[in-house]
Amino acid sequence: MRASNLFFPTLREVPADAQMASHRLLLRGGFIRNVAAGIYDYLPLGYKVIKKIERIVRQEMDAQGAQELLMPAMVPAELYQEGGRWDLDVIFKFRDRNARDYAIGFTHEEVITDIVRRDVRSYRELPLNLYQIQTKGRDEPRPRGGVVRGREFIMLDSYSFDRNWDDLDRAYDKMYVAFSRIFARCGLDAAVVEADSGAIGGKDSQEYMAITDAGEDTVLICESCGYGANAEKCEIGIRPIKKSSEELAALELVDTPNARTIEQVTSFLKKSPKKLVKTLIYLADGEVVAALVRGDREVNEPKLRNALGAKSVELADSETIMNVTGADVGFAGPVGLKGVKIVADREVEGMANFVVGGNKTDAHYVNANLCRDFEVGQFADIRVASKGDACPRCDGTLKAERGMEIGHIFKLGTRYSDAMGAKFLDDDGKEKPFIMGCYGAGVSRMLAAIPEVHNDKDGIIWPISVAPFEVTVILLNSDDEAQCNAATRLYEELQAGGVDVLLDERDERPGVKFKDADLMGTPIQVVAGRLASEGKVEVRLRSDKSKEEITLDEATAHILQLRKALYQGLEDKAQSAAKRA
Ligand code: ATP
Ligand code: MG
Repeated sequence: MRASNLFFPTLREVPADAQMASHRLLLRGGFIRNVAAGIYDYLPLGYKVIKKIERIVRQEMDAQGAQELLMPAMVPAELYQEGGRWDLDVIFKFRDRNARDYAIGFTHEEVITDIVRRDVRSYRELPLNLYQIQTKGRDEPRPRGGVVRGREFIMLDSYSFDRNWDDLDRAYDKMYVAFSRIFARCGLDAAVVEADSGAIGGKDSQEYMAITDAGEDTVLICESCGYGANAEKCEIGIRPIKKSSEELAALELVDTPNARTIEQVTSFLKKSPKKLVKTLIYLADGEVVAALVRGDREVNEPKLRNALGAKSVELADSETIMNVTGADVGFAGPVGLKGVKIVADREVEGMANFVVGGNKTDAHYVNANLCRDFEVGQFADIRVASKGDACPRCDGTLKAERGMEIGHIFKLGTRYSDAMGAKFLDDDGKEKPFIMGCYGAGVSRMLAAIPEVHNDKDGIIWPISVAPFEVTVILLNSDDEAQCNAATRLYEELQAGGVDVLLDERDERPGVKFKDADLMGTPIQVVAGRLASEGKVEVRLRSDKSKEEITLDEATAHILQLRKALYQGLEDKAQSAAKRA
């Protein structure tokens, strides 16, 4: 490709609302353009990156025996109704001329289950793993970061069908390998963390997280054993309780006018939130429960639900709170609370002389103490894990990082096969529901995740595997014959060698060409400049800005070697990522 023919409208100024580095750089470099909230054009450079990511996806999915198909982007309402998801508010819906309802597909469990229930009869046809790379629509409440969270986006979605859970484990492990290798080959060093299986239910679920400050999720990672989990899911290790050595002081009810929130109470009483215990009133399957956590902690509702063995937990309404505590919201406390089960986070067991709500509007107790002032029915891990907590798998400590979810693999089980009556005949002559897994990765999100972690002040530093061009040959002065000959020769030799190469022969100042090559993020840049008259060119690496002079005769072989080494580096990472399982 010649740069004079390439459509890459660069921008000097980017819109102020583009906050993330990748968003700004993708706009500046002419990779994407915004069309509407969460809806983007992929311009030629951006689409080249997408196609390279997709190629890697296909190679790795095929290598694990998955087969590519393509399902419709328009999904009839009946299918999502069968799966029980038609009412989700992320679904874009529309009607045809005959007033039939459709959705833009937002994920295809129902559609694939329909295919398999129609056409797969026997255990002999299993295992089966079918995938697609497709444009999805989701009416996200908060699109952000350009293509990080779009309302239209490109996703890899794969679905496995097995006879039993053991086979699902095998199918899942294969996808673990495929996903680990896909991300590593794209230059993303993903942390694999345990995730909450959420409303869908199911067994294991792991998320692939690109670690970046721009990530929306908090992930906790053990510094010793590598255990990782999404903060929503992360367990906290059990350690012996260190009882406070403070002497117990006398319980006192004090006035705290209008101090409801932790901030208001701590600033009014001049105490650290660590000396507070907050009391949240929940309804667990309809029964009132008080959940106690330290003032600076958050209750983790799935953990609370599990600890109580309840099907559902929800915060109580203000009327219930008034009935149970006799006070407005913000003043609930365990002292004198009648007929309510009290569950406390394990950490509370080590505390002494703390502040709790007074069960009286505008009042709190200070110097409350366990046993002496109130009884706890159950101690359990009911809070959101945070930095410094104990690892649940080893003696280590958890650190907190920001993560951007780039993939999610999931053991679904029979959630959809049961709902949709998708069964096969097993070798014992019985009909059984398929055991399913689903595996999704954000292809267009990767277009942003990669530059989010690989950039500098000059632009994107693409890993070679997904760079729009592997090599840019920069012809500095197109009026100079030696330079022209050198650049053309290199361009042709590299093309013949199978290299994806851009020749920048534009009539532009050298500074512009250097800037554009860096902004575009080409990993290997070759400059045909003044040295060309001596039969030499300069080879530059985008990653470390190193430069070396090399003879024109040796240049192609040298560049091919450099390119090979860059690919090998990514392959080495892919191999070690796949081994972590
Ligand atoms: P998130 O929590 O980020 O909304 P999700 O749990 O809804 O993601 P899945 O339904 O598991 O995501 O989709 C699989 C993958 O598709 C995600 O891991 C992510 O990489 C990508 N993805 C999901 N939603 C979007 C979106 N709105 N824009 C771009 N990519 C997305
Ligand atoms: Mg989502």
